[in-house]
Amino acid sequence: MNLRIPGPTPVPEDVLQASAAQMINHRGPEFKELIGRVTDGLKHVYATEEDVFILTCSGTGAMEATVVNMLSPGDHVLNVSIGVFGDRFAQISEAYGAKVTRLEFEWGTSADPDKVREVLNQNPDIYAVSVTHNETSTGVTNDLESIAAVVKGEFGKLLLVDGVSSVSSIPLLTDKWHCDVVATGSQKGWMAPPGLAFNSVSPEAWQAYEKATMPRFYFDFGKAKQYLKNGQNPWTPAVSVMYAMDAALEKILAEGMANVYERHASIAQMTRDGMKALGLELFTSAADASNTVTAIKVPEGVECAELVRRMRTEYQTVIAPGQGRLTPDIFRIGHMGYAREEDIKGLLDALADLLPKLGFKR
Ligand code: PMP
Repeated sequence: MNLRIPGPTPVPEDVLQASAAQMINHRGPEFKELIGRVTDGLKHVYATEEDVFILTCSGTGAMEATVVNMLSPGDHVLNVSIGVFGDRFAQISEAYGAKVTRLEFEWGTSADPDKVREVLNQNPDIYAVSVTHNETSTGVTNDLESIAAVVKGEFGKLLLVDGVSSVSSIPLLTDKWHCDVVATGSQKGWMAPPGLAFNSVSPEAWQAYEKATMPRFYFDFGKAKQYLKNGQNPWTPAVSVMYAMDAALEKILAEGMANVYERHASIAQMTRDGMKALGLELFTSAADASNTVTAIKVPEGVECAELVRRMRTEYQTVIAPGQGRLTPDIFRIGHMGYAREEDIKGLLDALADLLPKLGFKR
């Protein structure tokens, strides 16, 4: 199968092999070495000197961890949303009793930092801003650096980032941009199976942690920090996914982050060019387009569900439809992590063959 959804992503054979190793004592010396190496690798990719914790959950768990460790019931949060995932931080914050102001932008476009400034000016009581770096549902990357310059540089608010489909694939300079907490998950650009999620925690985030009163237990950053000092997780971790992350990070670090980012930019460009060459229209502008997921408009006369179904059954290629209200209108191609040119070429060839059969006329 050519798995071209935006996560879980294909796992390279050597990483898969690594994940099949026998169990070890998660309170023993081998695990201590493993968690030390993986944490160091994560810090390198996150571009941070600060804390990074490994949680056993998916990306949403890391987002929930962010909320419960940073906020108190009643705190006013500005949630910047450009799509389905943009709303998730708002939903979690509300579930735990925060007061959320939603700043929403048209789906398919990126967030305007000037609008963020405007809302922060109008609402001096806002305590934190939550934002998605890369919106997987629309294939748009926010200009997080500019948003951070407003949120941190101008207003000094707490900045909580969903980096689930960006960290390790699209530059996110955690310390340089002053992101306080950045959440991501192992099944995206990391080339590992689902099961682990990661959170960076800045010094300012630790100050917020001291004040935060939301209920928390499993996802307590304080416990994670205390146990990590002894090379452990507070709870039994997904050891097999740790093996995979260890092997995947070795590959990522050997390639070097500049090359990894360049490879993602290049395969994304190849995908966008290929779609246009087929006569298809992209859902986003070139300036907003993501380097990890491409959203394409379903052409007139073609049914999205049928396109997705026949790509899978006749061409062994798994693509994603739109999400939420965009479900029938766009389809999405993932090209984060282990995505090779031949995979994209195979996908484009399959589309070229199938689309006319579904009624597409150029
Ligand atoms: N945020 C973004 C931007 C995502 O792409 C995803 C996963 N598609 C999530 C959050 C949720 O992550 P998970 O499914 O791992 O909980």
